[in-house]
Amino acid sequence: MTNKERMKIQRQAMPARESVERAHSFREVNLGLTEHVAILEAQRCLLCPDPKCINGCPVSIEISEFVRHLAGGDFKTAADVLLRDNALPGISGRVCPQEKQCESLCVRGKCGDSVAIGYLERFVADWAREHHGEMAAPAPPTGHKVAIVGSGPAGLTAAGELARKGHDVTIFEALHEPGGVLVYGIPEFRLPKEIVRQEVDGLRKLGVKIECNVIIGRTYTIDDLLTEEGFHAVFIANGAGLPVWLGIPGENLKGVYSANEFLTRVNLMRAYNPEGETPVLRPKMAAVIGGGNTAMDGVRTSKRLGAEPATLVYRRSRKEMPARIEEVHHAEEEGVVFQFLTNPLAILGDDKGWVRALLCQRMELGEPDASGRRSPVPIPGSEFEVPCDVVIEAIGTRANPLLTHTTPDLKLNRKGYIEIDENGMTSKPGVFAGGDIVRGAATVILAMGDGKKTAAAMDRYLRNGQTPSERK
Ligand code: FAD
Ligand code: SF4
Repeated sequence: MTNKERMKIQRQAMPARESVERAHSFREVNLGLTEHVAILEAQRCLLCPDPKCINGCPVSIEISEFVRHLAGGDFKTAADVLLRDNALPGISGRVCPQEKQCESLCVRGKCGDSVAIGYLERFVADWAREHHGEMAAPAPPTGHKVAIVGSGPAGLTAAGELARKGHDVTIFEALHEPGGVLVYGIPEFRLPKEIVRQEVDGLRKLGVKIECNVIIGRTYTIDDLLTEEGFHAVFIANGAGLPVWLGIPGENLKGVYSANEFLTRVNLMRAYNPEGETPVLRPKMAAVIGGGNTAMDGVRTSKRLGAEPATLVYRRSRKEMPARIEEVHHAEEEGVVFQFLTNPLAILGDDKGWVRALLCQRMELGEPDASGRRSPVPIPGSEFEVPCDVVIEAIGTRANPLLTHTTPDLKLNRKGYIEIDENGMTSKPGVFAGGDIVRGAATVILAMGDGKKTAAAMDRYLRNGQTPSERK
């Protein structure tokens, strides 16, 4: 096929469940490409000799190579290439903001639509899972034991990389199920838990051990791991899951949740199933505060639990929303009400202490702030109420100090995140860190990139005979 012919093919759309159906269902919204459509989309790739797209991929997937095999209908080789660089492709193919990563650098995007790399990644990952595609066998055992704290995308990726290099890897996870935000935060309708489970099982097949219900900082300290438990290196990937509150009046009323609590109850604890044991308030009218992916997940989940309306309150305009464009688009289709340029002032309650409304004020955009975004300025006298019985705050998270308080020799920055050097090593020799606990709340693919890069540095560290026991 010539480039001229490739250029004539239009970007293929991702088929999705009908919005009327999905507004009340937790089944996955995006349905995935068919074989025929995936091949057609792959044929749009110009197979650039110096592919720019790969520079936008934090885990350095050989994009043009896997897409080339896919375009030729060789799904097996495409899967082998993908799995070589990415242990969790079904996850990243679904939730990575590709439009800001690889696809933003694709040359086809310069005069038209970029290649839908994310859709293709998802297609190949799903094909591999259905056809038992597996990662290459691990290298012979090195005798080095590595502990990983946290089983989110950073921890899982590092575990896969280190196990493949022959190290003996154990993940310690505080919750009862591995996956981090992938299972407790991102809802079933965006990322089915079965996909996470199967990709985690792939790591187990590589020899990764996962111990759930273990809190590092309580069950063991980092020093316990390095001494009594005999680990030669530790990777801290415990995320940044502590909710931040607005600090407005009324946050102690019944019916106020942090997004993480609400989503954990519904997703991880399966409260979306009315026959399940986990209690959650099923909102009649919900107000969700924030403009990121977490806020979108909160408001779309409220809608599915029956909220009418489910309202999103965001103090800037649509253009400044950090949420993925696809999520905003899907939410609109599902009937979510957006109150842009709206700032919450107080949560109002009834005489029994239950939420009855969110008091808000209209905003207008002023001068750009430090982030480069135009900052919202209140319009005097514009107060109004959003009636609701549940308020969900999704304005961000920060580091949980439980682990760092018990490891005083870990250097932190002024926001409480762990400081690392260029190899991902903390101020404590043999202890590395990555993902949200270093960056602050970021993305799945950046956490995976940290896991991959740091695993390579840990491997070098271990092989150079620098383990704590060897240094003694
Ligand atoms: P996490 O995923 O937070 O995992 C950390 C794990 O460590 C958790 O399982 C936690 O239980 C465990 N842990 C914590 N403390 C301890 C301890 N002391 N001992 C043992 N275990 C511990 N990003 C995207 O790219 N796309 C999206 O669509 C997207 N949607 C999101 C939706 C929501 C609701 C949220 C909250 C975030 C979303 N993000 C999204 C952001 C993304 O999920 C995170 O940036 C990413 O998960 C960070 O990965 P991590 O491995 O650093 O930490
Ligand atoms: Fe294909 Fe775009 Fe990457 Fe070029 S930049 S190899 S067209 S995906």
